[in-house]
Amino acid sequence: LTFTDKLQEFNDCSESHKSAIDEITKEFEINTDKLKKISEHFRNEMNKGLEKHGQTVAMVPSYVTGIPTGKEVGTFLALDLGGTNLRMCQVNLEGDGKVSVRQQKYKVSDSLKNGEARHLFDYLADCVDKFLSEFNISSSAEDKLKLGFTFSFPVDQTAINKGSLIYWTKGYTAPGAVGKDVVFMLQDSLNRKVVPVEVTALVNDTVGTLLAHAYKHSNTLLGVILGTGTNGAYFEKISNIKKLKSFSSNADHMVINIEWGAFDNERKVLPLTMFDNKLDRKSNNPRKQALEKFISGMYLGEIARNVLLNLIDRTLLFDGFSSKDLNNQYYFETEYMSTIEADDTNTLEKTKRILEESLNLPSTTLTDRQIVKRVCQLVGLRAARLSAAALSAVISQCNVPESGCNIGIDGSLFLFYPSFKERIKRALKECLGPNADKIELDLAPDGSGVGAALAAMLSA
Ligand code: BGC
Ligand code: MG
Repeated sequence: LTFTDKLQEFNDCSESHKSAIDEITKEFEINTDKLKKISEHFRNEMNKGLEKHGQTVAMVPSYVTGIPTGKEVGTFLALDLGGTNLRMCQVNLEGDGKVSVRQQKYKVSDSLKNGEARHLFDYLADCVDKFLSEFNISSSAEDKLKLGFTFSFPVDQTAINKGSLIYWTKGYTAPGAVGKDVVFMLQDSLNRKVVPVEVTALVNDTVGTLLAHAYKHSNTLLGVILGTGTNGAYFEKISNIKKLKSFSSNADHMVINIEWGAFDNERKVLPLTMFDNKLDRKSNNPRKQALEKFISGMYLGEIARNVLLNLIDRTLLFDGFSSKDLNNQYYFETEYMSTIEADDTNTLEKTKRILEESLNLPSTTLTDRQIVKRVCQLVGLRAARLSAAALSAVISQCNVPESGCNIGIDGSLFLFYPSFKERIKRALKECLGPNADKIELDLAPDGSGVGAALAAMLSA
């Protein structure tokens, strides 16, 4: 094992501790063979999605056929919904792969996420309006500014500016949007509020990330989000997209939004544990987004919490005591895991602080903290390895040029989770062999705004 995959050991603990932890460790480990199997199944599912509509891995055509050359110029607006924040940007494409961005973040409250969709879209229109006045951007009814809408949920896309929501993910449930065209809903809210803006492109955040990264690096193969949710987008040969029947274009390639979060909703290959099953059962989208629930930042803390509670109930942790906070769904944040995994103090002091101060647990022993760290490592490592299984499948679907290629990745996990990148790299090598060395995993921050602007431009 490499340094990054080395698991926390225990100083002094009983045989029953040891055997319980060994058992859990086994359940979370994914060996190379299994990883390759998952990756193969993923590749088959991708191809099914290219052939027919309505498959588990949706393989959504984005209708973006142009690859940015870096020479594009112009000013566009972008609105980005679906991550931790709502973002509004004005993007200035300057050519030479250069862009300047002015942006503002807005909160989306839980009541907006879960109340009538109409209110959510009205709020989006209000944010556009506020942004235009705050930044003194002029737009008129005769000459409306163009806006690219980054909407990071699964949609059935039928044109560059048209797509209906298939279902919500990542904690959104707002009724009144599923089956509706989200561009129409946003445009309708803008019109009613007399905001002179025209929504000309609908893009997924992965598509935006891919376009933005490709604008700067011509050998970009894939755009990926490893954040609150997870997903990827890549350039596919149009002749391979069998389900695209009545589309004619001179282009050879189109960006496909894979929607890989839903991979294996059938539960054929993913190594589900009782901790995953519990998370799924109590989630607001049971039996959906199976892969996302193993990988993304929204869920990792909750899986770890389920393991900790199990150990508590068996009196193998914290002397059998929990706390009000730890008993609360989603209170063990993925961010805590990042800190705990990075805690290299001898006595795990940072871990102690999280447990005793943030989560109000009674005083913990070093063994308790070592167990907690091991649990975080197991959940974090498994997430990275499964991300690599997905990546390796997409890479195999593409032609990796001799000279190598880049993958542009954005999202809080990739940004902040210690060793996530190294763990992916190692697992990629297990799946792809030496070819993996030709692949760069680049940080592609804030691409979805720039990408939406590029899509608005490419669609014009
Ligand atoms: C959504 C995707 C999105 C991903 C990352 C998933 O929950 O289904 O559309 O790209 O999250 O934000
Ligand atoms: Mg985002």
